[in-house]
Order: sequence, then C-alpha cells, then structure tokens
Amino acid sequence: MRTKRILILGGTRDARELAAGLIAKGFDVVTSLAGVTENPVLPPGTVRRGGFGGVAGLTSYLGALRIAVVIDATHPFAAQMSAQAHEACRQSGVPLMRLERPEWQATDEDRWTIVHSAAEAAAALPAGARALVTIGRKEIGPFFARSDVSGVARMIEETPAPATAGWRVLRERPPFTLEAERRLVLDEAISHLVTKNAGGTVTDAKLTAARQLRIPVIMIARPAKPATPSFTTPGALIDMLLGMHSP
Ligand code: NAP
Repeated sequence: MRTKRILILGGTRDARELAAGLIAKGFDVVTSLAGVTENPVLPPGTVRRGGFGGVAGLTSYLGALRIAVVIDATHPFAAQMSAQAHEACRQSGVPLMRLERPEWQATDEDRWTIVHSAAEAAAALPAGARALVTIGRKEIGPFFARSDVSGVARMIEETPAPATAGWRVLRERPPFTLEAERRLVLDEAISHLVTKNAGGTVTDAKLTAARQLRIPVIMIARPAKPATPSFTTPGALIDMLLGMHSP
C-alpha cells in the first residue's frame, strides 16, 4: 500500500515539529511555505514554497499530489490561507485538520486592551506613548504614521515601510528571555506593548515583563477561521492521525 502523503501548511515552529514527528512515524510529508521569509528555518521532509494560486490552485495541487490529509499549521493570523484550505479541502473531499496553539489569556494583574486590527491597535495608543510593537513587518505602517507616538518595532525581516522619526526598527528572531524583555522595556522607556495574540511559550516573556513592570498591553485578537477539527500540540494531532490512518 502507498505511504500516506500529508500536506502541512506551515510557516510556524509547531509545523516543523509536526513534520518531524509525522516523518518519524513513517508518513510522507510535504510542508508548504508561503515563500515570504528570506531565510526560513526549514522542516524535515519535502518542502515547497510559494502560493498555490487561490482555492483552484490548491484544489488541483491536492489532486495532482494525491494528498490524503491537509494540516493547517499556519500562524493564527494567516486567515486567508486557512479559509482557502478549508474551501479547497471541502471541494476535494480531503480531510483538513488544524494545529493551533491556545490563545494567551489575561490574568488579573494584566491590563489588556483588546483590538481587532493593527490600525485599531495604533489608534488605541495615547499621544506621547512609547510603544514596543511586536506584530511583524507587514502591518507596521499605521504605527509609523503616528507622529505623536514613538517606540521600537521589533521584527524578524526588514520592514518595507521605512521607520519615521521617533521609531527604531529592531531586527531580532525569537525566543526572547524574560530578562532581555525586561531590559528592553526599561532601556527604551516603553509605556505600552502592542502584540498579536499568537499564543505559545516562545514569545510570551514580553507579556510577563509587561505584567511585572505594569505596562499596559494592546492585544490584537485572532481573526476568525472556519470551523475545523483542531489540535493544540503536534503530539495530539499525530496520535489522532495514527488512529485514523496507518502511514
Ligand atoms: P495569508 O494572508 O493567510 O495568505 C496570503 C497568501 O499567501 C495565501 O492566499 C497563499 O497564496 C499564500 N500562503 C500563505 N501561507 C501559505 C503556505 N503555508 N503555503 C503556501 N502559500 C501560502 O498569510 P500571511 O499572514 O501572509 O502568512 C504567510 C505565511 O507566514 C504563513 O505560512 C504563516 O504561517 C506565516 N506566518 C504568518 C504570521 C502572521 O502574523 N500573519 C506570523 C508568522 C508566520 P495563494 O492564494 O496563492 O495560495
């Protein structure tokens, strides 16, 4: 019998861990990356890069490669890819599952303002604020447009929008320690943290630093995604797949 081929829609650390775990169990794994990151950390197994060309492109890819299962392990904020995967799998009759880290939750000691977009987050900063903005490069424009606000925009890749007066771009890749996050907040005299609710433990030290230093947080909530069977850890998803399919 042919080995089951699994398509992972990747771009996250969990997707890499999932690929390694599935390969160890004998599955044939293809990970798809959007191709927008300059030097991505590559998962084991086959890797393809670049968009599929919408729902129609993904549907024909699933048929051509005889994909048995699709796992949407994209970042919680990659809403378009998740919606397209849902529709392509529905049309092709290929099972779809999602791997998604649980959301971060505010504690009683946190001061979060929840917003639904980067533009809303930028608008929520009071005049004179000094913000640490950790939302990636694509949506940094509304912050640089606030000439009455200054701060640090931290991102992995260079921003296409040049920093304006008062703003500094800090290019760094996670993980970050609590000590380093506290130092950054104090050294830069940060008054507000702006972040997306990515979840997970790799980038959550900034929330602990904000809590300890009593810094308010502007938290961008996750976009809605289509209802799909979801798992929070690679291990749980692999166990379920092994119960459903022998490799
Ligand atoms: P998006 O807005 O949901 O998707 C935009 C388009 O990019 C999709 O229509 C698709 O093109 C292509 N695409 C996205 N993910 C793909 C994948 N894994 N494989 C092949 N094509 C893909 O996505 P995004 O927010 O720009 O994120 C792009 C990638 O970066 C994702 O893989 C995501 O996991 C990763 N990422 C995103 C964030 C974030 O905050 N958004 C953070 C960390 C990592 P076609 O329509 O041509 O198929």
